[in-house]
Parts: sequence; structure tokens; C-alpha cells
Amino acid sequence: MKLQNYINGQLIEPTAGQYIDNYNPATGELYAYIPDSDEQDVVQAVKAAQAAFPAWAATPAEKRGQLLMRIADLIDQNLDRLAEAESIDNGKPLKLAKTVDIPRASSNMRFYGTAIQHFASEAHYMEGTEAINYTVRHPHGVAGCISPWNLPLYLFTWKIAPALAAGNCVVAKPSEVTPMTAYLLSELCMEAGLPAGVLNIVHGYGHKVGAAIVSHPKVPVISFTGGTKTGRSIAATAAPMFKKLSLELGGKNPNIIFADCDFNNALHTSIHSSFANQGQICLCGSRIFVERPLYEQFKQAFVDKVNKLTVGDPLEDGTKQGAVVSEQHMQKVLSYIALAKQEGGIILTGGHQVQVEGRCANGWFIAPTVIEGLLPDCRTNTEEIFGPVVTLTPFDSEEEVIRYANCTDYGLSATIWTQNLQRAHRVAHQVHSGIVWVNTWLLRDLRTPFGGMKSSGVGREGGFEALRFFTEPQNVCVKL
Ligand code: NDP
Repeated sequence: MKLQNYINGQLIEPTAGQYIDNYNPATGELYAYIPDSDEQDVVQAVKAAQAAFPAWAATPAEKRGQLLMRIADLIDQNLDRLAEAESIDNGKPLKLAKTVDIPRASSNMRFYGTAIQHFASEAHYMEGTEAINYTVRHPHGVAGCISPWNLPLYLFTWKIAPALAAGNCVVAKPSEVTPMTAYLLSELCMEAGLPAGVLNIVHGYGHKVGAAIVSHPKVPVISFTGGTKTGRSIAATAAPMFKKLSLELGGKNPNIIFADCDFNNALHTSIHSSFANQGQICLCGSRIFVERPLYEQFKQAFVDKVNKLTVGDPLEDGTKQGAVVSEQHMQKVLSYIALAKQEGGIILTGGHQVQVEGRCANGWFIAPTVIEGLLPDCRTNTEEIFGPVVTLTPFDSEEEVIRYANCTDYGLSATIWTQNLQRAHRVAHQVHSGIVWVNTWLLRDLRTPFGGMKSSGVGREGGFEALRFFTEPQNVCVKL
């Protein structure tokens, strides 16, 4: 199968006619070709977006919203097809794609299709001087949206939906590792009747297509989700051009378990927060800190449960752990397991590649891995691994665990397990992370601000925050 770029309402070949191989990570087989686009394709996409912008910006918000909801309906109608494509492209269990990734993609479109109809601007009356200020929020023009491979359609739509709802036209690049559902989305946008040029999807490598979007002078706003290193290089290009930037970057999230927690809930959810999507979610809790009186009991029960996670063919019903996204990523994760051993870590379970039988014999699978005995500030505990690997560390006091939690450069999310409400709030306020969950994990209300502190990013997505990001406020002051 040969994918195509979606530019100016049409599916077209990359200008240079070059393609990149696309592999199925569960089988290791080449199964599609992705456009190896370059700057010329980005220039063409930006031109199409610029041309479409005046009419799209002038389209009433209600009509823009209806189009997004039509796309949401089509995503729902194509749930099975999209979920299978996501599972094959990424290696994630089909069930996960069907229950989380694809439903969330349609929720994103529907959420912003309706949110834009409730997005009001402010007015400030000046007492005494008899003047009124009102704020108009203009769309920027062409927005650049760049997304990663771990939750492909979920994160792609999380960016393009608010950008389009706010009246911008978009040039978007999905990860070249998982381009399939963005390609299928372009077909659905055509079916929905999205006007030509409003959304343009250019496939290809980050250093070519991504970099060309970021450096294009007619793309004044960039929304990026991906690694911290890439975010740094994007900021270096965009800052001197005074572009507006939203950066959602890596995480190394603490999962703090106090001895008074609801044990079964903490245990069950921690399995999920450690290994969902093979640990390849920026919000996964990769460092588990357990209060000492509960440590041995938790460790035993946790390792027992991890040993029961079935690693195997993502398309099979009973599979809990699919393949990791690529061979290169598998080698990176395995190198961190080797590092953990060098740093004195003890592997309690996992720690190796898994050879799956049959169809998936050449796929890239890693056994869910639990490590203990590491210092909280060692590399394994402070660098993002982004795979099915967690560490266990005991602690004795609140003060100590807050220090451990905060000793990385990241600050995306944290989870706290306790039945003591005062402590929950106290600890939550001292942990340096943009998102804190208490007695739950990944419970998302799309209206809330989403994003990280420190090296986990700049800015917030979600709710009206994203609509503010994708618009330029202009204050008009009228003397009465
Ligand atoms: P990368 O940073 O490698 O890539 C992200 C996207 O940026 C890809 O589309 C990539 O293209 C592109 N890109 C790469 N280089 C450049 C460049 N120089 N200029 C512009 N674009 C570029 O991240 P991954 O895809 O590996 O995703 C995993 C990372 O994403 C993890 O660190 C994870 O924590 C983070 N993440 C953060 C989330 C958050 O909300 N904070 C959510 C999900 C993931 P290509 O694929 O061709 O390299």
C-alpha cells in the first residue's frame, strides 16, 4: 500500500517521488510505503492552507463545528477499520485501539466542534473613565501541528481539532513511524466535505517535513508533541522567529503509594499505569514509590500480576502487551534495562526481548519489566525510557518521597494513592508536575488544562486553553 499526502483537498504523491518503508512492528514485515516528502511539499501545503484561510476563518463557528462533528461521526462509523490500522501500524493491542485510541479521536473532534460554540471573549468596562474594552480572538492563519507515534490518531486529532475549530488552516505531520490512521483520516475529511486546503497532511521524516513546517515563515504557530530533545530543537528555530509555541514533551512520572491506600485499586491501576500501550504513554507512571510498611506486600502482588500479562499478537483478543513500535525503539528500551543492571538494579521480572510464536515470530516484543534496588537519582530513574519498564523504590516519609518525585528534569504527571485526603492535597501541591491524579490514573476531562512543567513542556492543551493558544487576542478600547 502506498500512502499519499493530503494537500489542497487532494491525495497526491510527494514531489520528489520518494517513499519510506513502513513496518508492522508485530511481524517485522514491510507493509506500506510512506511519502518521503520534503520542503517543496510543505511549501505547497502552506500555500494551500493560506489560500483556504480567509474563507475558513469567515465560516461561522457553528458551521466549522458541524464539519468537525461530521468527521467525528465518520471516525465512529469506521471504528473497526481505523482500530485495526492503528494496531498494525503501532503494535498496540487491537482492543486498546478499539476502546481508547479511536473513540478518543472522535471525542477530540466532537469536543472542539462544540467547544468553539461556547468560546466567548471578554469585555472590561472602565468605571469612572466611561470606556469599554472588548477582546477579539482572531485565528492565526496557518497552524503547524506535529505529533508522535505512541497514540497516533488520538494525539493527531487532539491538535488539529482545536486549531481548525478556532478558524486556522492546518499543515500537519504525523510521525513517520505510524502514519496510517492520519492517512485514513484524510480520506474521511474528503468524505465529510472539509473545504480544500483547510487541513493538509504531509507525511515524512521529522528532520525534513517537521523542520520545514517549523521554519516556514508563514506558519506563525506550532503545536508539537514528542520528545524533549526534539522540542528543544524546535524551540531554537521558532523562538527567533517569534512563533507561538506549544510543546508537550517527555515524562518520567512518579506513582506514589502510601500504606493507607485502597490496596487492590492501587495495585490494579498501577499495572495499567505502568504497562498500558507497552509503557509508551507519556503519562505512564514509570517510577513507583511505595511506603515501606506496604513495600514487600505490594512488590509480591505487583510482580505476580505482571507475570500474568500476556505478551503476544496484538490482533488476538487475550493479548495485554503488544509489540513496541520499532526495532530501534526496542533496542533503546533494552539498552536502558542493561543500564539499570549496571547501576545495581535487580530485575524482579522481565528484562528481556520476547520471542512470540507464529505470525509474530519476527516482531519486536519486550517482557514487562520490574526493577528494584536503584537510587532515585540514577539515570534509569531520571531519564525517559518510554517502554514496559518500571522501578520500585521504598520510602519512609512524605518529605522523602516528594524529594524523590521531584528529582528528575521532567514534570508531566504524578499519581498519589492514599485515603488521607489532607495528605493527598498536601503532596499534590508539592509535586512538580502539570497533572496530578489522586486514587486514579489517566482519568481525563477534556476541559482541563493538559501539559507539563520543567522539561516536560511549555504551554497547556485541552479545553479553552487550546482555543486560546490557537487564537491571537486583540483588545479594542472604546471611549464612550
Ligand atoms: P519525537 O520527538 O522523535 O517525534 C515527534 C514528532 O516530531 C514526529 O512526528 C517526528 O517525526 C517529528 N520531528 C522529529 N524531528 C523533528 C524536527 N527537527 N523538527 C520538527 N519535527 C520533528 O518523539 P516520538 O515520536 O519518539 O514520541 C515519543 C515522545 O513523545 C516521548 O518523549 C513522549 O514522552 C512524548 N510524548 C509526550 C506527550 C505529552 O503530551 N507531553 C504525549 C505523547 C508522547 P519523525 O517521526 O519522522 O521522527
